[in-house]
Amino acid sequence: RQKIAVLTSGGDAPGMNAVVRATVRYGIAKGCDIFGVYEGYQGLIDGGERLKKMEWKDVRGWLAVGGTTIGTARCMGFKTREGRLQAAENLVKNGIDALIVCGGDGSLTGADLFRADWPGLVDELKSTGRISQEQADAYHVLTIVGLVGSIDNDMSSTDITIGAVTSLHRICEAVDSVSTTALSHSRAFVIEVMGRHCGWLALMAGIATGADFVFIPEKPPQEDDWETTMCSVVERHRHLGKRKTVVIVAEGAIDKNLKPIKADHLKDILTNRLGLDTRVTILGHTQRGGAPAYFDRLLATTQSIEAVDAVLESTPDTPSPMIGMTDNKITRFPLMKAVALTHEVAEAIGQKNFARAMELRDPQFAE
Ligand code: ADP
Repeated sequence: RQKIAVLTSGGDAPGMNAVVRATVRYGIAKGCDIFGVYEGYQGLIDGGERLKKMEWKDVRGWLAVGGTTIGTARCMGFKTREGRLQAAENLVKNGIDALIVCGGDGSLTGADLFRADWPGLVDELKSTGRISQEQADAYHVLTIVGLVGSIDNDMSSTDITIGAVTSLHRICEAVDSVSTTALSHSRAFVIEVMGRHCGWLALMAGIATGADFVFIPEKPPQEDDWETTMCSVVERHRHLGKRKTVVIVAEGAIDKNLKPIKADHLKDILTNRLGLDTRVTILGHTQRGGAPAYFDRLLATTQSIEAVDAVLESTPDTPSPMIGMTDNKITRFPLMKAVALTHEVAEAIGQKNFARAMELRDPQFAE
Protein backbone atom coordinates (compact mmCIF):
# COMPACT_ATOMS: atom_id res chain seq x y z
CA ARG A 1 0.00 0.00 0.00
CA GLN A 2 1.56 3.25 -1.17
CA LYS A 3 2.00 5.77 1.63
CA ILE A 4 2.26 9.39 0.56
CA ALA A 5 2.91 12.46 2.72
CA VAL A 6 1.67 15.91 1.72
CA LEU A 7 2.98 19.18 3.10
CA THR A 8 2.69 22.91 2.50
CA SER A 9 5.79 25.05 2.84
CA GLY A 10 7.03 28.62 2.34
CA GLY A 11 4.58 31.51 2.12
CA ASP A 12 0.92 30.53 2.46
CA ALA A 13 -1.26 30.76 -0.62
CA PRO A 14 -5.03 30.46 -1.07
CA GLY A 15 -5.72 27.00 -2.49
CA MET A 16 -3.17 25.14 -0.37
CA ASN A 17 -6.03 23.62 1.62
CA ALA A 18 -7.63 22.45 -1.60
CA VAL A 19 -4.31 20.74 -2.42
CA VAL A 20 -4.33 18.81 0.85
CA ARG A 21 -8.01 17.96 0.50
CA ALA A 22 -7.72 16.64 -3.07
CA THR A 23 -4.50 14.75 -2.31
CA VAL A 24 -6.10 13.05 0.68
CA ARG A 25 -9.35 12.17 -1.05
CA TYR A 26 -7.98 11.14 -4.44
CA GLY A 27 -5.18 9.27 -2.70
CA ILE A 28 -7.67 7.33 -0.59
CA ALA A 29 -9.78 6.62 -3.69
CA LYS A 30 -6.64 5.18 -5.33
CA GLY A 31 -6.02 2.90 -2.35
CA CYS A 32 -3.18 4.90 -0.78
CA ASP A 33 -2.58 6.03 2.78
CA ILE A 34 -2.12 9.80 2.89
CA PHE A 35 -0.27 11.53 5.71
CA GLY A 36 -0.63 15.25 6.38
CA VAL A 37 2.61 16.84 7.56
CA TYR A 38 1.93 19.73 9.95
CA GLU A 39 4.10 22.90 9.94
CA GLY A 40 5.94 22.29 6.67
CA TYR A 41 9.36 20.63 6.81
CA GLN A 42 9.45 21.13 10.58
CA GLY A 43 6.71 18.49 10.82
CA LEU A 44 8.88 15.99 8.95
CA ILE A 45 11.71 16.57 11.43
CA ASP A 46 9.45 16.48 14.51
CA GLY A 47 7.40 13.46 13.41
CA GLY A 48 4.97 12.12 16.03
CA GLU A 49 1.63 13.90 15.94
CA ARG A 50 2.86 16.21 13.23
CA LEU A 51 2.79 13.31 10.78
CA LYS A 52 -0.85 12.39 10.78
CA LYS A 53 -2.68 9.82 8.67
CA MET A 54 -5.59 11.69 7.15
CA GLU A 55 -9.08 10.31 6.68
CA TRP A 56 -11.70 11.42 4.18
CA LYS A 57 -13.60 13.41 6.80
CA ASP A 58 -10.50 15.19 8.13
CA VAL A 59 -10.47 17.56 5.16
CA ARG A 60 -14.18 18.26 5.03
CA GLY A 61 -14.89 21.93 4.27
CA TRP A 62 -11.27 22.74 3.41
CA LEU A 63 -11.97 23.80 -0.19
CA ALA A 64 -13.34 27.16 0.84
CA VAL A 65 -10.76 27.96 3.52
CA GLY A 66 -7.84 30.25 2.69
CA GLY A 67 -4.25 29.72 3.84
CA THR A 68 -3.16 26.27 4.95
CA THR A 69 -4.77 24.48 7.87
CA ILE A 70 -1.92 21.96 8.25
CA GLY A 71 0.36 24.98 8.67
CA THR A 72 3.46 26.18 6.93
CA ALA A 73 6.77 27.29 8.38
CA ARG A 74 10.20 28.48 7.44
CA CYS A 75 12.34 25.62 8.72
CA MET A 76 16.08 26.18 8.99
CA GLY A 77 16.60 22.63 10.29
CA PHE A 78 15.65 21.12 6.94
CA LYS A 79 18.54 22.96 5.29
CA THR A 80 20.94 20.90 7.41
CA ARG A 81 21.84 17.29 6.75
CA GLU A 82 21.08 16.42 10.37
CA GLY A 83 17.56 17.79 9.95
CA ARG A 84 16.99 15.83 6.74
CA LEU A 85 18.37 12.68 8.39
CA GLN A 86 15.79 13.00 11.16
CA ALA A 87 13.08 13.65 8.56
CA ALA A 88 14.12 10.53 6.62
CA GLU A 89 13.99 8.42 9.80
CA ASN A 90 10.45 9.59 10.55
CA LEU A 91 9.31 8.85 7.02
CA VAL A 92 10.90 5.39 6.85
CA LYS A 93 9.51 4.42 10.26
CA ASN A 94 6.03 5.37 9.03
CA GLY A 95 6.55 3.47 5.78
CA ILE A 96 6.36 6.64 3.68
CA ASP A 97 8.50 7.00 0.57
CA ALA A 98 6.65 9.63 -1.45
CA LEU A 99 6.22 13.30 -0.71
CA ILE A 100 3.95 15.85 -2.38
CA VAL A 101 5.18 19.36 -1.58
CA CYS A 102 3.18 22.50 -2.25
CA GLY A 103 5.33 25.61 -1.94
CA GLY A 104 7.52 28.10 -3.74
CA ASP A 105 10.87 27.57 -5.45
CA GLY A 106 12.72 27.34 -2.10
CA SER A 107 10.46 24.59 -0.83
CA LEU A 108 10.66 22.68 -4.10
CA THR A 109 14.45 22.97 -4.20
CA GLY A 110 14.58 21.57 -0.66
CA ALA A 111 12.33 18.70 -1.71
CA ASP A 112 14.50 17.74 -4.66
CA LEU A 113 17.65 17.97 -2.55
CA PHE A 114 16.01 15.61 -0.05
CA ARG A 115 15.35 13.14 -2.84
CA ALA A 116 18.98 13.35 -4.03
CA ASP A 117 20.23 12.88 -0.46
CA TRP A 118 17.84 10.07 0.33
CA PRO A 119 19.93 6.96 -0.49
CA GLY A 120 22.82 8.31 1.58
CA LEU A 121 20.49 9.23 4.43
CA VAL A 122 18.94 5.74 4.43
CA ASP A 123 22.41 4.14 4.43
CA GLU A 124 23.45 6.25 7.39
CA LEU A 125 20.26 5.45 9.30
CA LYS A 126 20.89 1.74 8.69
CA SER A 127 24.57 1.80 9.59
CA THR A 128 23.86 3.64 12.84
CA GLY A 129 21.10 1.20 13.74
CA ARG A 130 18.29 3.74 13.56
CA ILE A 131 16.42 1.65 10.98
CA SER A 132 16.63 -2.03 10.09
CA GLN A 133 18.16 -3.63 7.00
CA GLU A 134 14.63 -4.54 5.83
CA GLN A 135 13.47 -0.95 6.15
CA ALA A 136 16.54 0.29 4.27
CA ASP A 137 15.87 -2.19 1.47
CA ALA A 138 12.18 -1.36 1.26
CA TYR A 139 12.58 2.43 1.23
CA HIS A 140 15.68 3.09 -0.81
CA VAL A 141 14.03 5.57 -3.21
CA LEU A 142 12.10 8.73 -2.32
CA THR A 143 9.54 10.06 -4.79
CA ILE A 144 8.99 13.82 -4.85
CA VAL A 145 6.24 15.68 -6.69
CA GLY A 146 6.02 19.47 -6.53
CA LEU A 147 2.99 21.75 -6.70
CA VAL A 148 3.58 25.47 -6.91
CA GLY A 149 1.77 27.39 -4.19
CA SER A 150 2.62 31.05 -4.63
CA ILE A 151 0.53 34.19 -4.92
CA ASP A 152 3.34 35.78 -6.95
CA ASN A 153 2.95 33.58 -10.06
CA ASP A 154 6.73 33.64 -10.19
CA MET A 155 7.54 30.09 -11.32
CA SER A 156 8.76 29.47 -14.85
CA SER A 157 7.34 26.67 -17.00
CA THR A 158 3.81 27.10 -15.76
CA ASP A 159 1.29 29.75 -16.76
CA ILE A 160 -0.15 30.11 -13.31
CA THR A 161 0.57 29.14 -9.70
CA ILE A 162 -1.86 28.19 -6.95
CA GLY A 163 -3.07 31.32 -5.11
CA ALA A 164 -2.15 33.96 -7.69
CA VAL A 165 -5.66 34.42 -9.09
CA THR A 166 -7.19 34.83 -5.62
CA SER A 167 -4.54 37.36 -4.73
CA LEU A 168 -5.16 39.28 -7.94
CA HIS A 169 -8.85 39.30 -7.11
CA ARG A 170 -8.13 40.74 -3.63
CA ILE A 171 -5.97 43.44 -5.24
CA CYS A 172 -8.71 44.36 -7.70
CA GLU A 173 -11.22 44.65 -4.86
CA ALA A 174 -8.82 46.89 -2.93
CA VAL A 175 -8.11 49.12 -5.94
CA ASP A 176 -11.84 49.38 -6.62
CA SER A 177 -12.35 50.35 -2.97
CA VAL A 178 -9.83 53.17 -2.96
CA SER A 179 -11.19 54.27 -6.33
CA THR A 180 -14.35 55.35 -4.54
CA THR A 181 -12.38 57.84 -2.47
CA ALA A 182 -10.16 58.81 -5.39
CA LEU A 183 -13.19 59.67 -7.52
CA SER A 184 -14.94 61.55 -4.73
CA HIS A 185 -11.94 63.71 -3.85
CA SER A 186 -10.29 63.65 -7.28
CA ARG A 187 -7.26 62.09 -5.64
CA ALA A 188 -4.30 60.01 -6.76
CA PHE A 189 -3.42 56.67 -5.20
CA VAL A 190 -0.13 54.85 -5.39
CA ILE A 191 -0.78 51.20 -4.60
CA GLU A 192 2.03 48.81 -3.76
CA VAL A 193 1.34 45.15 -4.44
CA MET A 194 3.24 41.96 -3.61
CA GLY A 195 5.11 39.75 -6.05
CA ARG A 196 8.73 39.88 -4.84
CA HIS A 197 10.76 39.89 -8.07
CA CYS A 198 7.76 39.16 -10.25
CA GLY A 199 5.51 41.81 -11.77
CA TRP A 200 2.60 39.57 -12.69
CA LEU A 201 0.26 40.74 -9.92
CA ALA A 202 1.02 44.42 -10.60
CA LEU A 203 0.69 44.08 -14.37
CA MET A 204 -2.55 42.11 -14.29
CA ALA A 205 -4.02 44.36 -11.60
CA GLY A 206 -3.14 47.35 -13.75
CA ILE A 207 -5.00 45.91 -16.71
CA ALA A 208 -7.95 44.69 -14.64
CA THR A 209 -8.49 48.01 -12.87
CA GLY A 210 -7.53 50.41 -15.66
CA ALA A 211 -4.59 51.90 -13.76
CA ASP A 212 -2.82 54.94 -15.19
CA PHE A 213 0.70 53.57 -14.78
CA VAL A 214 2.32 50.30 -13.63
CA PHE A 215 5.88 49.60 -12.47
CA ILE A 216 7.21 46.03 -12.63
CA PRO A 217 10.70 44.56 -12.16
CA GLU A 218 10.96 42.79 -15.52
CA LYS A 219 10.32 45.85 -17.66
CA PRO A 220 11.63 48.97 -15.95
CA PRO A 221 11.02 52.35 -17.57
CA GLN A 222 13.83 52.95 -20.03
CA GLU A 223 13.93 56.75 -19.82
CA ASP A 224 16.45 58.44 -17.52
CA ASP A 225 13.67 60.80 -16.49
CA TRP A 226 10.84 58.31 -16.24
CA GLU A 227 9.17 60.54 -13.65
CA THR A 228 8.32 63.01 -16.43
CA THR A 229 6.92 60.21 -18.58
CA MET A 230 4.65 59.08 -15.77
CA CYS A 231 3.50 62.64 -15.09
CA SER A 232 2.69 63.28 -18.73
CA VAL A 233 0.60 60.10 -18.94
CA VAL A 234 -1.27 60.99 -15.76
CA GLU A 235 -1.81 64.56 -16.98
CA ARG A 236 -3.12 63.32 -20.32
CA HIS A 237 -5.65 61.13 -18.53
CA ARG A 238 -6.66 64.03 -16.28
CA HIS A 239 -7.19 66.24 -19.31
CA LEU A 240 -9.51 63.60 -20.70
CA GLY A 241 -11.66 64.21 -17.66
CA LYS A 242 -10.49 61.41 -15.36
CA ARG A 243 -11.03 62.30 -11.69
CA LYS A 244 -8.93 59.53 -10.24
CA THR A 245 -5.33 58.49 -10.71
CA VAL A 246 -4.10 55.01 -9.87
CA VAL A 247 -0.44 54.03 -10.08
CA ILE A 248 0.40 50.42 -9.24
CA VAL A 249 3.91 49.56 -8.15
CA ALA A 250 5.21 46.03 -7.63
CA GLU A 251 7.15 45.64 -4.39
CA GLY A 252 10.19 44.61 -6.47
CA ALA A 253 9.91 47.45 -9.03
CA ILE A 254 13.18 48.97 -10.16
CA ASP A 255 14.48 51.54 -12.64
CA LYS A 256 16.79 50.61 -15.49
CA ASN A 257 19.80 50.98 -13.17
CA LEU A 258 18.25 48.46 -10.74
CA LYS A 259 17.45 51.16 -8.18
CA PRO A 260 14.19 50.36 -6.35
CA ILE A 261 11.15 52.44 -7.26
CA LYS A 262 9.28 53.10 -4.04
CA ALA A 263 5.68 54.12 -3.49
CA ASP A 264 6.64 57.15 -1.37
CA HIS A 265 8.84 58.51 -4.14
CA LEU A 266 5.96 58.18 -6.63
CA LYS A 267 3.69 59.97 -4.18
CA ASP A 268 6.14 62.88 -3.90
CA ILE A 269 6.38 63.17 -7.68
CA LEU A 270 2.61 63.22 -8.20
CA THR A 271 2.15 65.67 -5.33
CA ASN A 272 4.97 68.07 -6.12
CA ARG A 273 4.89 68.10 -9.90
CA LEU A 274 1.18 67.72 -10.60
CA GLY A 275 -0.27 69.11 -7.39
CA LEU A 276 -2.37 65.96 -6.91
CA ASP A 277 -3.64 65.05 -3.47
CA THR A 278 -1.85 61.68 -3.40
CA ARG A 279 -2.07 58.79 -0.92
CA VAL A 280 -0.04 55.63 -0.67
CA THR A 281 -1.78 52.32 0.03
CA ILE A 282 0.38 49.29 0.71
CA LEU A 283 -1.90 46.29 0.44
CA GLY A 284 0.40 43.92 2.36
CA HIS A 285 -0.98 40.64 3.64
CA THR A 286 -4.60 41.35 2.75
CA GLN A 287 -3.48 40.07 -0.66
CA ARG A 288 -2.84 36.59 0.73
CA GLY A 289 -5.98 36.32 2.82
CA GLY A 290 -9.55 35.21 2.42
CA ALA A 291 -11.34 32.41 0.66
CA PRO A 292 -9.72 31.02 -2.49
CA ALA A 293 -11.30 32.07 -5.79
CA TYR A 294 -12.99 29.39 -7.88
CA PHE A 295 -9.93 29.12 -10.13
CA ASP A 296 -7.52 28.29 -7.33
CA ARG A 297 -9.85 25.61 -5.96
CA LEU A 298 -10.06 24.06 -9.40
CA LEU A 299 -6.34 24.41 -10.16
CA ALA A 300 -5.35 22.96 -6.79
CA THR A 301 -7.78 20.06 -7.14
CA THR A 302 -6.85 19.04 -10.69
CA GLN A 303 -3.13 19.50 -10.07
CA SER A 304 -3.25 17.44 -6.89
CA ILE A 305 -4.95 14.60 -8.74
CA GLU A 306 -2.13 14.79 -11.28
CA ALA A 307 0.40 14.82 -8.43
CA VAL A 308 -0.96 11.60 -6.92
CA ASP A 309 -0.98 9.98 -10.37
CA ALA A 310 2.62 11.14 -10.87
CA VAL A 311 3.62 9.46 -7.60
CA LEU A 312 1.92 6.23 -8.60
CA GLU A 313 3.55 6.26 -12.05
CA SER A 314 7.02 7.34 -10.92
CA THR A 315 10.15 5.31 -11.57
CA PRO A 316 13.56 5.83 -9.94
CA ASP A 317 14.83 7.28 -13.23
CA THR A 318 12.24 9.99 -13.83
CA PRO A 319 13.30 13.41 -12.53
CA SER A 320 11.02 14.87 -9.86
CA PRO A 321 8.09 16.47 -11.67
CA MET A 322 6.54 19.84 -10.99
CA ILE A 323 2.85 19.96 -11.80
CA GLY A 324 2.05 23.05 -13.85
CA MET A 325 -0.53 24.40 -16.25
CA THR A 326 0.17 25.50 -19.81
CA ASP A 327 -2.51 26.60 -22.26
CA ASN A 328 -5.16 25.39 -19.84
CA LYS A 329 -3.72 21.87 -19.69
CA ILE A 330 -2.26 20.31 -16.56
CA THR A 331 1.40 19.46 -17.19
CA ARG A 332 4.35 17.65 -15.65
CA PHE A 333 7.67 19.44 -16.02
CA PRO A 334 11.08 18.53 -14.53
CA LEU A 335 11.07 20.34 -11.21
CA MET A 336 14.70 21.42 -11.10
CA LYS A 337 14.56 22.68 -14.68
CA ALA A 338 11.63 24.92 -13.73
CA VAL A 339 13.47 26.18 -10.65
CA ALA A 340 16.62 26.85 -12.72
CA LEU A 341 14.62 28.81 -15.31
CA THR A 342 13.01 30.82 -12.51
CA HIS A 343 16.43 31.73 -11.14
CA GLU A 344 17.49 32.72 -14.65
CA VAL A 345 14.84 35.45 -14.62
CA ALA A 346 16.39 36.99 -11.51
CA GLU A 347 19.85 36.68 -13.06
CA ALA A 348 18.71 38.38 -16.27
CA ILE A 349 17.22 41.26 -14.26
CA GLY A 350 20.47 41.52 -12.27
CA GLN A 351 22.38 41.78 -15.55
CA LYS A 352 19.91 44.41 -16.83
CA ASN A 353 18.89 42.05 -19.60
CA PHE A 354 15.23 42.94 -19.27
CA ALA A 355 14.16 41.61 -22.66
CA ARG A 356 15.46 38.18 -21.64
CA ALA A 357 13.76 38.43 -18.25
CA MET A 358 10.42 39.19 -19.87
CA GLU A 359 10.89 36.44 -22.45
CA LEU A 360 11.68 33.91 -19.72
CA ARG A 361 8.75 35.08 -17.64
CA ASP A 362 6.18 35.10 -20.41
CA PRO A 363 6.84 35.86 -24.07
CA GLN A 364 3.19 36.86 -24.44
CA PHE A 365 3.76 39.96 -22.33
CA ALA A 366 7.20 40.86 -23.67
CA GLU A 367 5.58 43.66 -25.64
P1 ADP B 1 9.33 29.37 -0.80
O1 ADP B 1 9.08 27.90 -0.85
O2 ADP B 1 8.04 30.14 -0.74
O3 ADP B 1 10.27 29.85 -1.87
P2 ADP B 1 11.43 29.52 1.23
O4 ADP B 1 12.50 29.81 0.26
O5 ADP B 1 11.41 30.29 2.51
O6 ADP B 1 9.98 29.71 0.64
O7 ADP B 1 11.51 27.97 1.59
C1 ADP B 1 10.64 27.40 2.52
C2 ADP B 1 11.33 26.30 3.30
O8 ADP B 1 11.82 25.31 2.39
C3 ADP B 1 12.58 26.75 4.07
O9 ADP B 1 12.25 27.32 5.32
C4 ADP B 1 13.31 25.43 4.22
O10 ADP B 1 12.74 24.65 5.23
C5 ADP B 1 13.05 24.75 2.89
N1 ADP B 1 14.13 25.04 1.94
C6 ADP B 1 14.29 26.10 1.13
N2 ADP B 1 15.42 26.03 0.42
C7 ADP B 1 16.03 24.87 0.80
C8 ADP B 1 17.25 24.21 0.44
N3 ADP B 1 18.11 24.71 -0.45
N4 ADP B 1 17.54 23.04 1.06
C9 ADP B 1 16.70 22.50 1.96
N5 ADP B 1 15.54 23.07 2.33
C10 ADP B 1 15.20 24.24 1.77
